[in-house]
Amino acid sequence: MTVENPAPTDNPIDPYHFEPYPLQAGEEYMNEQQQTHFRAILEAWKRELMEEVDRTVHHMQDEAANFPDPTDRATQESEFSLELRTRDRERKLIRKIDQTLELLDAHEYGYCESCGVEIGLRRLEARPTATLCIDCKTLDELREKQRGG
Ligand SMILES: [Zn+2]
Repeated sequence: MTVENPAPTDNPIDPYHFEPYPLQAGEEYMNEQQQTHFRAILEAWKRELMEEVDRTVHHMQDEAANFPDPTDRATQESEFSLELRTRDRERKLIRKIDQTLELLDAHEYGYCESCGVEIGLRRLEARPTATLCIDCKTLDELREKQRGG
């Protein structure tokens, strides 16, 4: 399988340090420019994650079976299991980003899935895959805590 490896110039947005959206007074929430802004962030983030997953796989292939010593092998195995967990988390995040991109396609992005209010640009920029407004999120966490005891 060939994996795309775009040059840095093809990827102008850094998903971790991008410019916040320059909001104009009276601008309609989730207008086309805003959707484009978030799509670019989500796609750049996804690309970044996929490259990380890819690096992990290559790293593990390179390292595999290079340690004949059992102690080294044990260390290597625990390193691998850590990497696998990281990769698992990245895959879940990629899936979440895909779902978020579908919301964008359906013009349903940016609204709380629980109460329907606007989640807000700044919260979405801090957490582009957020599907709950801050109030519902807080409530959700409280309930979670109560359930957990
Ligand atoms: Zn809400």
